[in-house]
Amino acid sequence: MDNYDVNRLRSDFPGLDRKIYNRQLVYLDNTATSQTPRQVVESIEHIYYNSKANVHRGVHTLSQEMTALQEAARERVRGWINAASTDEIIFTRGTTEAINLVASSYGSFFHDGDEIIVSVMEHHANIVPWQLLQSRVNVKLRVIPMDDRGVLDLDAYAKLFNSHTAMVAIAHVSNVLGTVNPVDEIIRIAHDNGVPVLVDGAQAVAHQRVDVTALDCDFYTFSSHKMYGPSGIGVLYGKRDLLEKMPPYQGGGEMIGNVSFEHTTFAELPYKFEAGTPDFVDIAALKSAIDYLEPIGMEAIAAHEHKLLEYTSQKMMEIPGMRIFGTAPGKDAIISFLIGDAHHYDTGMLLDKLGIAVRTGHHCAEPLMHRLGIEGTVRASFGLYNTIEECDIFIAALKRVAMMLG
Ligand code: PMP
Repeated sequence: MDNYDVNRLRSDFPGLDRKIYNRQLVYLDNTATSQTPRQVVESIEHIYYNSKANVHRGVHTLSQEMTALQEAARERVRGWINAASTDEIIFTRGTTEAINLVASSYGSFFHDGDEIIVSVMEHHANIVPWQLLQSRVNVKLRVIPMDDRGVLDLDAYAKLFNSHTAMVAIAHVSNVLGTVNPVDEIIRIAHDNGVPVLVDGAQAVAHQRVDVTALDCDFYTFSSHKMYGPSGIGVLYGKRDLLEKMPPYQGGGEMIGNVSFEHTTFAELPYKFEAGTPDFVDIAALKSAIDYLEPIGMEAIAAHEHKLLEYTSQKMMEIPGMRIFGTAPGKDAIISFLIGDAHHYDTGMLLDKLGIAVRTGHHCAEPLMHRLGIEGTVRASFGLYNTIEECDIFIAALKRVAMMLG
């Protein structure tokens, strides 16, 4: 994108100015969390100093103002992912809590012998909540395999369905391989079999335009902190008819209609799933993150990040011994790699000494590591503010580390 002014964007992120061991920080850990623009931080400060009051309870001006800010954020999220109604937007602590909510609440409909289809590349957040159900009901995970590039085998997927299949839970984008899964096709096949689909969108929303209505997914989950918003909150989108029949996830204030010792009725959507005081300040600030992203344009961000991905991947392959995990066509700007037999941790430590922030380990995807036959990788992941110059610094550092580790 010729008119993509990355330097102007960078000036919105004071966090990028940090020096690490006297070197300019090169932040390539965007998959774990993104840095936060000034506009979002300032909106948090503004709310704390001007409008902080608990939501939904007060007749006083501040409480009404804060409630309006929270509900404006809900409407902004609704429009951003093109949901039909704000009743379908539930605020959670993040992707993890959103998936736990669905597993626990929708999971109350599961029977012994039911099966949940996941893929081999899922984050633990989309594996363990389903396994936790096994203390209540005898459910089994069925796993979609992938090829060596990190592309899911859709023929094998279609064959996993049977009369016991109760749910498909699938990552939109792999946090390790960068694979962008064909969720539209995955959803279509599931619906042909009468099975609902939860899409884990944690790695998608900051890198592409997501339209839950066009996708026709039943649930979609994401975290604010990975999309330039505040930490501590996330979103569960759910289709109204499903959310309406699901039981509450947690009990407490906000989620009730009337309470007596004998009987309690529950609030309407979305509040039925928002027990207790929500993180209203950060929810309101999530709106500022979307306000920030929208004018830049998700298509422009995606094009910029893909340019960085292609440039960096190509240069990395020139380094002797370089092994890149995840080469699916159209993948996102996430590069998992190992240099020869060097331990991922050593590579990550040395890169840190050179000012470069990458992540090492199993990336909360141990079953995927088993499939790849490795313990972990080093992962470099790109965001809207990374530059070609940073890619060059990263490549030069990698060459140095490769020499040091032999
Ligand atoms: N799913 C995927 C694909 C992720 O990358 C992550 C974060 N690493 C999660 C789920 C969990 O997100 P959070 O920790 O924000 O709940």
